[in-house]
Amino acid sequence: MSEFSLIARYFQGATSTHHSTRLGIGDDCAISQLADDCQLVSCTDTLVSGRHFLPDTCPHAIAYKSVAVNLSDLAAMGATPFAILLALSLPKSAACDEFLGRFAKGIADICQQFGVELIGGDTTGNDTLTVTITALGTVPANSALYRHTAKIHDIICVSGEIGSANYALSQRLAGNSPPAQLQQALDYPMPQVALGRQLLGVANSMIDISDGLGQDLGHILAASGVGARLDLHKIPTNALLGKLDHEQLWQHQLNGGDDYQLLFTLSPEKFAEFNQHSQPIYAIGEIVPTQGLQLFWHDTPVDFPIKGWQHF
Ligand code: ADP
Ligand code: MG
Repeated sequence: MSEFSLIARYFQGATSTHHSTRLGIGDDCAISQLADDCQLVSCTDTLVSGRHFLPDTCPHAIAYKSVAVNLSDLAAMGATPFAILLALSLPKSAACDEFLGRFAKGIADICQQFGVELIGGDTTGNDTLTVTITALGTVPANSALYRHTAKIHDIICVSGEIGSANYALSQRLAGNSPPAQLQQALDYPMPQVALGRQLLGVANSMIDISDGLGQDLGHILAASGVGARLDLHKIPTNALLGKLDHEQLWQHQLNGGDDYQLLFTLSPEKFAEFNQHSQPIYAIGEIVPTQGLQLFWHDTPVDFPIKGWQHF
């Protein structure tokens, strides 16, 4: 059973509805009505040692990344974060000042960077180090960006380089030390909060890329009932990945994970206007009426299997 069919079967619609819920299970975050003009945007993500990070990752990076991946989900709705909660399951070996001092510094550093406060959590003992962050943010009412609202002829954009983190992970798993810049992409993903907020009223749909560009674009396509043409040669790529052959590169970019860039769609007119004064954004394809994902390399069709991250 896939993660998504499990959620749909057992949890979607499992509880009574609440009048404040504007968006429940199925997107990057949930949305609740706070006041007439303000909505609460919330999400939670767990990182498990040995599954989401290598056990020898420095505690500062584990903490930083645990928060970053959640702020990235908020960014994917266009929300502005204000608080997090931290649920920590600690093995005995990590219940010491050596570990916790560096872990706490990682939490403090990213919270300071994004103006976010740690307002609560829970601490237990467990054989495997597990970090669960719940993140809270706000959006002006009815302005959040969803997965299900991509429009035909929209331009598909990403906010930065794709594939660096997964390449670094593959190097680490092969026993090599990746270049520092790529290691940084793996350990310290930068949630695109400011860009997400700027895209309110500009983009038609948005998601963050956590499980691979192919699978995450697939979520937008399925939710919106549309297809896409993707120009693989336009995907922004770190020069340090330049020596890979096409198949290896596409594997890291389409099926790897951990990029935490934003993937969004907007009309050609909005793209031309926004692109003039925004931070760099990269057009990599177009939303089309025909269902499915068509891949091209400089106008030559490419056959490449999309297989994103699978938990089970
Ligand atoms: P993301 O990759 O953006 O973090 P996920 O793929 O983890 O999103 O989750 C997809 C959707 O399913 C989200 O709306 C999330 O809140 C919901 N979800 C995941 N697991 C559960 C669960 N155990 N109970 C309820 N909802 C869940
Ligand atoms: Mg997400």
